[in-house]
Amino acid sequence: MRPVNPATGEQIDAYEQADEDDVEAALARASDAFESWRQRPMREREQLLLNAADVLRDRKAEYAELMTREMGKPISQATAEIEKCIWGCEHYAQHASAYLADDHYPSPAGSTVKTAYDPLGVVLAVMPWNFPFWQVFRFAAPYLTAGNVGVLKHASNVPGCALAIADVFREAGYPEGVFQSVLAPSSLVDDIIADERVEAATLTGSGPAGRAVASTAGEHLKKTVLELGGSDPFVVLEDADVEHAAERGAWARNQNGGQSCIAAKRFVVHDAVYDEFVDQLVEEVEALTVGDPMDESTDVGPQARQRFLEELHEQVTASVEAGATVLTGGEPLDRDGAYYPPTVLADVPANCPADSEELFGPVATVYRVDDEAEALEVANDTRFGLGASVWTADRERGERLAGQIDAGCVYVNQLVKSDPRVPFGGVGDSGYGRELSAIGIQEFVNRKTVWIE
Ligand code: NAP
Repeated sequence: MRPVNPATGEQIDAYEQADEDDVEAALARASDAFESWRQRPMREREQLLLNAADVLRDRKAEYAELMTREMGKPISQATAEIEKCIWGCEHYAQHASAYLADDHYPSPAGSTVKTAYDPLGVVLAVMPWNFPFWQVFRFAAPYLTAGNVGVLKHASNVPGCALAIADVFREAGYPEGVFQSVLAPSSLVDDIIADERVEAATLTGSGPAGRAVASTAGEHLKKTVLELGGSDPFVVLEDADVEHAAERGAWARNQNGGQSCIAAKRFVVHDAVYDEFVDQLVEEVEALTVGDPMDESTDVGPQARQRFLEELHEQVTASVEAGATVLTGGEPLDRDGAYYPPTVLADVPANCPADSEELFGPVATVYRVDDEAEALEVANDTRFGLGASVWTADRERGERLAGQIDAGCVYVNQLVKSDPRVPFGGVGDSGYGRELSAIGIQEFVNRKTVWIE
C-alpha cells in the first residue's frame, strides 16, 4: 500500500498489505480476546477509554498531521477531529454504564423481568478515509466499551491512520486483540464477514460498498449498521437571516474539502430571497482560502485522491452539458495536487449527476422554489436521507418542516453535525442503524430478556 499525499502527488510511505494469513491471525486474536474482555467490569472498560482519550490528547498534533498528509484535510480541521474523538471517548466513559444498565419490565407478583445488554463478540468495521480518526472512534468507543472486540479494515489510502489508531488502544492499555487494524484489501471483506468468529459488521462508506457488505452479512445472518452517502438539502425560507445562512451554508458545503456525508449539498431557496442568498453564497465560497492543508489558515485543501477529483469533475461537466450554470469554480485548479475550487451550480436540470447523485467534493447546487410546499418537495426529491437543515426566523415553522423531511436528522438554523450525545444515521440509500448516544451503543448487543420467578 502506497498512500499518496494529495497536496503534492508524492508517495508518503509503503505499507505491507495484509493477506489471508494475517486476517486469520487477527480473527483468532480477536476471538480469544473476547472471552476475557466481556468479563471485565464496565468501570475498567470505561477507564481504558479515558486512557485512550489521554493518548489522543498527548499525540494530537502528530495524528492531525498524519491525517492531513494522507488525505489532505486542512490541519485546523484535523486537530478538531482529534478533539472530537477525545470527546467521544470521554462521553462513553462517562455514560456507557447508564446506557447499558438493565431495563426492568412490569411482571407478575413475585417475579422479576429485565433485559440485560450482552456484547455480541467480534465486530468488523469497514471505514472510509474522509474522517479517518472520527469514523473509527465513533464505532470503537461505544462498541468496545459494551464488551465487543473490534477488527478495523480502514480505507486503503489511510493505512498510517489505521495503524496509529491501533497504537492508541495499545498505548491506552487495552488487552491484545480487543482492537486491531488489518490492512486488508476490500476483496477480503466478504471472507471476514463469513467467518464464524465474526458476529456483526458496521460500514461507513458508499452505497456500493454498503450493498456488498449487507448482502454478504445477510447471507450469513449477521447484524449490520450502514452509514452511507447523502445529498442533504439546506432549505432557506423567505424569513431566514440570509447573510447568516449563506455564511453557514458555504462552510457546511466546503468543510473537509466538501468530502462529508452530511455536507449541505442541495441548497433549496425561496424565490423571495433567492438572488440575495445566491449572491452571498458565491461571495462566501470565493472568500474561502484554498491551499496547502498544512497551513493553519487554509479552509479548503485538496481532494483526497486525484481519482476523486476526476470523478467529481466528470459529474460537474456532465451536469453543465445537461444545462447547469456555473456561478463560480467548475474547473480543477491549475496547480500541483488534487485541488478543486469551491463551486456553485445553478439551473440544475432534473436527473443530471449534480441533481441525482452525491457530489463528494466542494460543489453546491442551488434550486429556486416558489413556496414552502415546493421547498419540501425538492428537499425530499432524493433517494438519500441522511441529514437536512432548515433556515427560518420562525422556530415553530422550522420544527413543523423538520417533521416533513425524510432524513435521519434535521437541524433548524444549525449545520448538520454528528455529536456523541445524539443518535446519528440515515434512511433510504443513506443506510440504516444508528451510531452515537445510547442508541448507538445498543446496536451491537444482545438485549437479553431475563425472567426470574
Ligand atoms: P467507499 O469507497 O465505499 O469505501 C469505504 C470503505 O469500504 C473502505 O474501507 C473501502 O475499502 C471499503 N470498500 C469499498 N468497496 C467495498 C466492497 N465492495 N466490499 C467491502 N468493502 C468495500 O467510500 P469512501 O470513498 O471511502 O467514502 C466516501 C463515501 O462514504 C461517501 O459516499 C460518503 O457519503 C460516505 N460516508 C458516509 C458517512 C456516514 O456517516 N453516513 C460518513 C462518511 C462517509 P478500500 O479503500 O480498500 O476500497
